[in-house]
Amino acid sequence: MTTISGARLFDGTDARGVSTVTVEGGVVTAVEPGERAGDVDGRGATLLPGLIDAHVHLRGAGNLGQALRHGVTTVLDMFSAPPQFTAVLRGRAARRSDEADLRSAGLMAGAVDGWPAVMLPPDPSGWRMPGLAGPGDAERFVTDRLREGSDYLKIFVENAADVSRPTLAPETVGALCAAASAHGMLTVAHAPTRWAFRTARAAGVDVVTHLPLDGPLDAADDELSGLVVCPTMTMMRALTDTASTEELLADPRLAAGLDAEVVAAMRSGDRGGLPTSSAPGASYDHAEDNLRRLVEAGATILAGTDANDVPGHAAAVVHGASMHLELALLVRCGLSPRDALRAATATPASVFGLPDRGRIVPGARADLLLVEGDPLTDVTATRDVRAVWRSGERVDR
Ligand SMILES: [Zn+2]
Repeated sequence: MTTISGARLFDGTDARGVSTVTVEGGVVTAVEPGERAGDVDGRGATLLPGLIDAHVHLRGAGNLGQALRHGVTTVLDMFSAPPQFTAVLRGRAARRSDEADLRSAGLMAGAVDGWPAVMLPPDPSGWRMPGLAGPGDAERFVTDRLREGSDYLKIFVENAADVSRPTLAPETVGALCAAASAHGMLTVAHAPTRWAFRTARAAGVDVVTHLPLDGPLDAADDELSGLVVCPTMTMMRALTDTASTEELLADPRLAAGLDAEVVAAMRSGDRGGLPTSSAPGASYDHAEDNLRRLVEAGATILAGTDANDVPGHAAAVVHGASMHLELALLVRCGLSPRDALRAATATPASVFGLPDRGRIVPGARADLLLVEGDPLTDVTATRDVRAVWRSGERVDR
């Protein structure tokens, strides 16, 4: 049994004042107001649920350890390959206390010879990424992913006018959503352009990820209010300039959890091969304006980074550290610190059907993050991590 006492509590939904939280057998067993003698002195700090990054890509097991050290206790992978690789990481994450827990889309739906198939290096085993030629391939694609253990379906929707490769037709996106829905599977669509966002919305996807960089959302406020959007502002910014990387490197609270060689490579301008957006008129200003509109309309926002670093290598968006930047970028676009923290805890748990986490209440999994100061007044306080617990086990950072 562990008691953490004297810290302010943010329980995933609201601030609860100074509290005492008891953990036993990997779960929270009591949450009481006030402080008393405890095993962990939380005075001066704030206790939050472990963060959930709602958009990452796994490139190696090191991603999960790096995420956990920065207080991200669960990652939602939005495409990794091949399926055997994802299965191995899923198994590790389920049993290791030094890695973040994991849910995964596995393979992403895309067109034959289109993205994302073309970006994968040739697989030595001869495995090839499956693509969809039309709506008739949707049912098979969905049942194959279910068989592989995918937790939700990721759909690659791109601007047909701007890519040199084939892309999914709107009818195929619609057929994928219908097939997934019939099997009780949540759908997430990649949509960084106006065309893609409109197509995803028309097809009825459950979650839209990214935001148009090429202009304003063309929808009325009442059409935006019901949307669930994971904007990945860190990635949207990284696609158009280097400000996020500079901000990350300038903050020792973020850079300290990364390998020194990786930090050195990032300082020298290595972005891990991330290209800049090829969409005409692409600008981070459009992503910011679009997020402000969604927030004002009352859309549901999820915090996700699109982290994709290969362990030990530089990248523009990295597991763990970039999540703290994402929270600050959400606040800059109109979310209150409380709503940004909800977007990283209770909200993704509810959207992705993870009722055991994202909140600090009796019975919840004891994924906990203790940070210095008060992130409800200054959200950058989440960067100052004092301790992390995964399923009640304190992480050696
Ligand atoms: Zn992504």
